[in-house]
Amino acid sequence: MDMKVKPASPQHKQERVSIYQPEQEGLIYPEIPVFDNVADERQHRKERLVAACRAFALQKFDYGSAGHLTIRDPEHPELYWTNPMCVHFSQVKVSNLVLADHSGRVLEGRHAINRAGFVLHAAVHEMHPDILAMCHAHTVYGTAFASLGKRLDPITQDTAAFFEDHDVVNEEAGQVVVEVKAGHRVASALGKGKAIIHQNHGLFTVSRHSIEAAAFWFIALERCCKQQLVVEASGAKPIHLSPETARYSREHVGSEYLGWLHFQTIWGQLVEQQPDMFD
Ligand SMILES: [Zn+2]
Repeated sequence: MDMKVKPASPQHKQERVSIYQPEQEGLIYPEIPVFDNVADERQHRKERLVAACRAFALQKFDYGSAGHLTIRDPEHPELYWTNPMCVHFSQVKVSNLVLADHSGRVLEGRHAINRAGFVLHAAVHEMHPDILAMCHAHTVYGTAFASLGKRLDPITQDTAAFFEDHDVVNEEAGQVVVEVKAGHRVASALGKGKAIIHQNHGLFTVSRHSIEAAAFWFIALERCCKQQLVVEASGAKPIHLSPETARYSREHVGSEYLGWLHFQTIWGQLVEQQPDMFD
């Protein structure tokens, strides 16, 4: 089945123009690919999902078998490609990805998935048809910050990327048995935002654009949690950006397109250093 991919939105085009600038015409610059068939687009999404997992390994986001990344299938958007259970992020490759449905039933792939954790992704994807990709992992700083049960403050340009664009789910998340309920709470809290801090649990990011954007904003969110914890631990009182400045910064540095663009540096590194991700 042939399928044309929707062209970049006017906002993405505008952002590309503002960053690239006309006088740089002809120079190397990452372009969002356009596909004329669904098989190529599926292969592309699977390769980028693997790269996102490898990026999480580089960031040391692994914690045993915890952590899931999902991207919708381009032909069957009710199905998601995800990483296999009990395979280290650094060993995820195209050939061991798993395709699953909302209920966590595996339709393609040899590996099991963590159904208890997957229900959180399924709840979000089911409630938000526009969300293409989602990332979750048990990271050191994100999970530590999540214990505070509060939003990030706009203390840096980095954290401004999440200003009024993330929320907190204040709920004890200590037991696997509450995962189904927690999934609905996380999904409900998302709204149009790109991230959730789940109290006592950790971080979630989503993208309506690409797995690359979801993965980059996850890396950024973990970094922002670290920044705020470091500042607070120092005892100093950080200066907050004004809401207007934080909003302006978010619009200019916190978009889906910018997340995708940032990830291209990681993609280039992985292609050169980890060619086995395509196996
Ligand atoms: Zn979790």
